[in-house]
Amino acid sequence: MFRIEMLPALEGDCLWIEYGDADNPRRMVIDAGRKESYRALGDRLAELTDPVELFVMTHIDDDHIFGAVPLFADDRIDKSTFKDVWYNGYTHLDPEIARRPPSDQLGAVTGEIFAALLQEHRYPWNEWFNQGATIVVPETGKLPFIELEGDMKLTLLSPSWKSLTALKRFWEKEVEENDLEPGDAEAALEIFAERASLQPDVLGGIIDVDDLIDRPFEKDTKEPNGSSIAFLAEHDGHAVLFTGDAHPPVLEQSITRLLQERGKDILQLDAVKVSHHGSKKNTSPKLLELLDCRLFLISTNGSRHQHPDKEAIARIVHRYHQNTKPTELYFNYLSTFNEVWDDDDLREEWNYQTHYPPEGTRLDL
Ligand SMILES: [Zn+2]
Repeated sequence: MFRIEMLPALEGDCLWIEYGDADNPRRMVIDAGRKESYRALGDRLAELTDPVELFVMTHIDDDHIFGAVPLFADDRIDKSTFKDVWYNGYTHLDPEIARRPPSDQLGAVTGEIFAALLQEHRYPWNEWFNQGATIVVPETGKLPFIELEGDMKLTLLSPSWKSLTALKRFWEKEVEENDLEPGDAEAALEIFAERASLQPDVLGGIIDVDDLIDRPFEKDTKEPNGSSIAFLAEHDGHAVLFTGDAHPPVLEQSITRLLQERGKDILQLDAVKVSHHGSKKNTSPKLLELLDCRLFLISTNGSRHQHPDKEAIARIVHRYHQNTKPTELYFNYLSTFNEVWDDDDLREEWNYQTHYPPEGTRLDL
């Protein structure tokens, strides 16, 4: 069995994954969303008797990392909760100094707080990759992969050194703009606390898929998103693509390499966690061309960035509408931005189905 659950994370991601024996499953957690997801996640983790195989902190944006700060500071969680934590902190961003986990050199606001907590509580950190080194796709050679206990194979697809180097510049700039000294967790927490306000929703509008797919694709250029850890997870004949908020060109390149490695033309997937909450800048037509998939998970309540964008969903349903079986869209919230797809005419014309909470939050493969 292979189950993916999208915990409530407001506009962010917090994925709870179970696989293997249904009576005694193994688990992975990808991102910790915001404070709301921390509460759900903290309660679940506190009840577990076995360690979680892996916690992946895909990147430093608040909608992924905010909940990880209270979580990793929570007394109910400790270094034995996770067998490993994947996270690229400041000193992982430079190939020259990325051999070891950061000691006292920390960066960018929330990322800095998270790194400080990992160290303070002696959580395992990037251990299964190179005993603490950067999680990165090398420019040449075979894509790195790891086999977790319970027959789960993860193949790394993002980030690249190029995207990490770009994040390094961003990180340094952000630290400077916030008058922060590396390692000053107290000052960073004060700034962090001011960032929690939510923006009002804006109405989604009428859907015209043909018009939406004609709009040119503009790629995401935000450095933190580009630094996302993304991977293909394979277990028991199932394959799922977890993308964080990764940039399409990085994924396209890695997936092309993977297809070459495996001598295939297209990547057969059971499900995709859509990158960057369904932003139009992170689901490219080119990426979709490389994938054969029916189930798409979109984690967001639409606040702040009004995700998912209509263009991204239109590209997905258009790409697969001629398949025999319908495309299925899983949403972990019902919002003004995703409810526009809850329309019988659209569903029929574009051969898709929608799943909203409660059933939209969980996917059993
Ligand atoms: Zn995000």
